Amino acid sequence: MQINNNIIFNTVNNGIIILDEDLNVLAWNKWLEIYTKIKEKDILSKNICKYFPYINEKKLKRKAKTVLVTNNPSFLSLNTNRYLINIPVSNITNTIFESMQQDITILPYDIEKKYICIYIYDNTLMCEINQKLEKANEELIDMSHRDPLTQIFNRRYFSEQSKKIKSFSQRNNNIPFSIITLDIDKFKKINDTYGHLVGDEVIIKVAHIIEAEVRTSDIVARFGGEEFVMLLQDCDLDGAYKVAEKVRQDIEKTSISVHLDTEVKFTVSIGVAQFSEVDNNNIELTLSRADEALYKAKNIGRNKTVVSN
Ligand code: GH3
Ligand code: MG
Ligand code: MG
Repeated sequence: MQINNNIIFNTVNNGIIILDEDLNVLAWNKWLEIYTKIKEKDILSKNICKYFPYINEKKLKRKAKTVLVTNNPSFLSLNTNRYLINIPVSNITNTIFESMQQDITILPYDIEKKYICIYIYDNTLMCEINQKLEKANEELIDMSHRDPLTQIFNRRYFSEQSKKIKSFSQRNNNIPFSIITLDIDKFKKINDTYGHLVGDEVIIKVAHIIEAEVRTSDIVARFGGEEFVMLLQDCDLDGAYKVAEKVRQDIEKTSISVHLDTEVKFTVSIGVAQFSEVDNNNIELTLSRADEALYKAKNIGRNKTVVSN
């Protein structure tokens, strides 16, 4: 059977270019004419790297040589832009990329004459799906670290990160770090008096106040109910006490309005402990010491900060 290669060349759903060893264009198929709006007659016998100066000529020449020497097809890796020929894509069909994302294969076309053939595959859709998946994955991971009500970190994430911070401190001359535990006072009464939704609002407000007082390198987590824990990096007991007192006073001064004319006020009790040798290399023990201090704060009348020495 006689096969008319020209039909195939001009109807396949990918770009095909044939080049000589100096990278001059010998053939340019219909697909490329349509997508680049460059007619074959206008690019024939032109050097492709002169025509498209962004093409890495050295790399393409090297690849062409290898393909002709080995007589084997080879994949051209594209690092930054992921295209050989820049073909803009409309942002109606595509939301992420400005240019078509391409897979490029180079084949020996005529070994004697030293001609090569370049296949250009449009891989934009797959790249887009991959990027969306990656983003969704990142969001899922982030969500799994956070408490749904306040959007601050949860206990599991706190445990993971606190271990990393402990190792970092130990590798760096035991840079001090401290833990603060905080519990809203008589919170059950707020729920009982104003309802659960107001209770939730109070929890969110407290979370925001705490976050505003710590550094971005610190970790704030909701440990459940109306309890919060902070880990302050590069911070000794004195420093942590100051932060705790600032948080306590800020919360004392705050109120939230309900039913137009009612202001709900609330206070917190706080315990502070610095990670030290008494903790036997175990942050859980620092956390327990902060908790003990917190319960002392409750016992001496609430709305207090107590440190664990
Ligand atoms: P104390 O001063 O001793 O801490 O007293 P308290 O009332 O704050 O402590 P208690 O542990 O008795 O009550 C905590 C309440 O917090 C009980 C629980 O129903 C409520 N709670 C736990 N999680 C949530 C939540 O997500 N939203 C709301 N609105 N309430 C919650
Ligand atoms: Mg409480
Ligand atoms: Mg509690």
